[in-house]
Amino acid sequence: ILAIDHLEKKYGDTVVLKDINEQIQSGEVVCVIGPSGAGKSTFLRCLNLLEQPTAGEVRYKGQDILKFNKTQLSDYREKVGMVFQNFNLFPNMTVLENLKLAPKRVKHLSDSDATDAALTLLERVGLKDKAQVYPDSLSGGQKQRVAIARALAMNPEVLLFDEPTSALDPEMVGEVLSVMQELAEEGMTMVVVTHEMGFAREVANRVWFMADGYIQEDGTPNEVFEHPKTERAQDFIAKII
Ligand code: ATP
Ligand code: MG
Repeated sequence: ILAIDHLEKKYGDTVVLKDINEQIQSGEVVCVIGPSGAGKSTFLRCLNLLEQPTAGEVRYKGQDILKFNKTQLSDYREKVGMVFQNFNLFPNMTVLENLKLAPKRVKHLSDSDATDAALTLLERVGLKDKAQVYPDSLSGGQKQRVAIARALAMNPEVLLFDEPTSALDPEMVGEVLSVMQELAEEGMTMVVVTHEMGFAREVANRVWFMADGYIQEDGTPNEVFEHPKTERAQDFIAKII
């Protein structure tokens, strides 16, 4: 569903992504691990063009997204949703309004259709009773589940997650990971930057180890965690497990 060829991203003279070549199949769950500063967030942001790559190609179903016009780009952003570490909910809107905003504005859903869809999604993440509250009154885990529901409200084909649980208190990590695991089991294509090695082992089809602007290891969780080929990955994995 996504093909990445010779992707490069520089900020001035700093080359953050040097030469990324990967493919992501529909229904695949890819976990991206690696040290701080490796370029993991930059990579995800290049996939949905929150950042403009400085060279290379990202093809979505065969089409180079860097060549998209405005309409194609906005269609693409509907299809590739993103969930952030810090939730990015709109604080001045209720949970329900957070979920209804984009479907109404972008997809031109009627108010009642948007409400129905939002409530169905809130039920799916176990938060139907929170529809009328403001994000401030939710726990971190609840906020992240709302953020996932909001991303799902656009009916995406791919979801990108940038450390979705690293801002959470430990006791709330599980509820978010279990929502993500359900999505994976339903066949959602997901790219997840995470430090949750348990999740990566159990849920990922593939793990990428990123360091120094390259994907240095690409394999099944077993291959990457038990038999890393590079010394860089061996060191990293020894430290986190
Ligand atoms: P972390 O695990 O800490 O989130 P990361 O792997 O996500 O790290 P990135 O956030 O992608 O790493 O950053 C990679 C490098 O790019 C870092 O050295 C960072 O300083 C640099 N960088 C990121 N964004 C910018 C920017 N807007 N301008 C300049 N440099 C940037
Ligand atoms: Mg990051």
